[in-house]
Amino acid sequence: MKFANLAGRASIVTGSVAIDVETASHGRFPADPHGVFARWAEFRRWAGDLRDRGDRPIVESELGAPSPRPTQVFGIGLNYKSHAAEAGLPVPNTPAVFTKFPTCLTGPAADVALPSSNVDWEVELVVVIGVPARRVAESAAWDYVAGFAVGQDLSERVVQWAGAGQFSLGKSFPAFGPTGPWLVTPDEVPNRDDLELGCAIDGETVQKSRTSDLVFSVSRLIAELSAVLPLLPGDVIFTGTPAGIGATRNPPRFLKPGEILTSYVEGIGTLRNRFVAAAAEH
Ligand code: ZN
Repeated sequence: MKFANLAGRASIVTGSVAIDVETASHGRFPADPHGVFARWAEFRRWAGDLRDRGDRPIVESELGAPSPRPTQVFGIGLNYKSHAAEAGLPVPNTPAVFTKFPTCLTGPAADVALPSSNVDWEVELVVVIGVPARRVAESAAWDYVAGFAVGQDLSERVVQWAGAGQFSLGKSFPAFGPTGPWLVTPDEVPNRDDLELGCAIDGETVQKSRTSDLVFSVSRLIAELSAVLPLLPGDVIFTGTPAGIGATRNPPRFLKPGEILTSYVEGIGTLRNRFVAAAAEH
């Protein structure tokens, strides 16, 4: 199943159209996507029996973040060997965890205002939690996943490395967390542990890898995180980026106003984000 946030309303994608969840369920489930995540197992059963094909056109600009207001957003650093190598840093023996503050989340077609000339790209597989998870075994972790989305962990590299290193702040400017275009349940992708992902700037490929190269797999991340704290329905995990970021190039390359970044994960979809100059301060 593909679950979308269409103009702020929980929707099910069926081809090029969508079903409005509140309308089709006669109010059993709310329009707010988070009200649906809170009852994800019940929702999946209902959606599985649904015969409606939907008639609501999907307008790309109306798609919002599939989980727009999660309680927690996790980012994982250095989770591909190729990326650790280009950064000149050792592969960690435990996941390197930070947060992207939830106000940075945005939709798959959002424009992103550049706060500086040091903004970098990081395509990532994003996981959304569907069932409360606490001290979950790695072997059971998939039972807690609602689905996948494509994500961009946009990063202002000067702020990120200022002070003693403040990843969470440098990755949380407004619109620094595009996700979408919708949530795809794990049963719908060809192989949930081996998906191609990549991104391109104005059509020029800059990152391309596979999630089978993750140092810590999705199930291992859920086990490690839930050993420390509860994961809640709607929580978002950015699982890490492969090689090909701009900061470690020679010379370094960063995003410029007018450029369009397209980001994809096999079997899920594509984000298309345009970068614009920051509005002048008043
Ligand atoms: Zn990242």
